[in-house]
Amino acid sequence: MEIHPAIIGTLLGFLGAMIGSFLNVVICRLPDDEQSIVRPRSRCPGCNTTIRWYDNIPVLSFFILKMRCRNCRQPISWRYPVVEAMTAGLALLLWWRFGLSKELAVHFVFTAALIAVTFIDLDLRIIPNEISLPGILIGFGCSFLWPGFWKDSLIGLLVGGGVLFLLSEGYALIRRREGMGMGDVKLLALLGAWLGWQSLLFVLLFASIQGVLVAVFMLIAGVKLKPPLPEEWELEEQDQGPEAAQPPDSVEQQENSPVEEDQDDEETPFLMAAIPFGPFLAISAVEYLFFGNWFYTWMRGGF
Ligand SMILES: [Zn+2]
Repeated sequence: MEIHPAIIGTLLGFLGAMIGSFLNVVICRLPDDEQSIVRPRSRCPGCNTTIRWYDNIPVLSFFILKMRCRNCRQPISWRYPVVEAMTAGLALLLWWRFGLSKELAVHFVFTAALIAVTFIDLDLRIIPNEISLPGILIGFGCSFLWPGFWKDSLIGLLVGGGVLFLLSEGYALIRRREGMGMGDVKLLALLGAWLGWQSLLFVLLFASIQGVLVAVFMLIAGVKLKPPLPEEWELEEQDQGPEAAQPPDSVEQQENSPVEEDQDDEETPFLMAAIPFGPFLAISAVEYLFFGNWFYTWMRGGF
């Protein structure tokens, strides 16, 4: 029996949005050890009212409520509908790319984890072990779904983790400060486990290119980087104590994130610290799913 593609698409989009809604909870609660992901039900961060199920419909509720809490009218972060729409969009794109297949299922789990990693890293500059370590194991486990792929996965895991670990250690030796966090090391090991070692060149190359492009764009556009230049940072710290040394534009994020800022921040050079690398690794891993084969074919033919 043939199911009409429109029905499959609607169901997949809806499923994606629901999982995106769950990812929002993960992004908010996972970094905070004191909160459980399954309980209690979602509350408004402003007035602490439990959010009704009919106000918790992915993407739609955000616009029906005109971006405000029904009870206290406090603005709802744009991030909720963005994460939901992004997850739904990825589900549909993966379906378009891979059809209804085990590739679709496995890659969707993978990209959902990357969405959570990306937003947690943007918020707090951490990549939680709660995602990266089980993620490495699950990725390696899934590799057995394809004959022989487990070897690529295992090498990818070891090389991915190893390369960044050596880079990070080398940088630390030369500059006497930590350049790349161990979170990024574990993330690249995760990417290698899910995508195989062949992906690592692509992922590192495009993550770096896009990272540099964004950094240059931010410098040109005069976007205020956080944390600020180390000199300013120290001055502010002496003047007002460590509490006031938070850059002003991080206030909004602090509301959602009761976890303390990474203490390493003041040690890292400002460009590396201002732009976390994890989201770029995640983006280029998703790009690899869509363009990886094409890129390697082009490289072999082009050179
Ligand atoms: Zn409220």
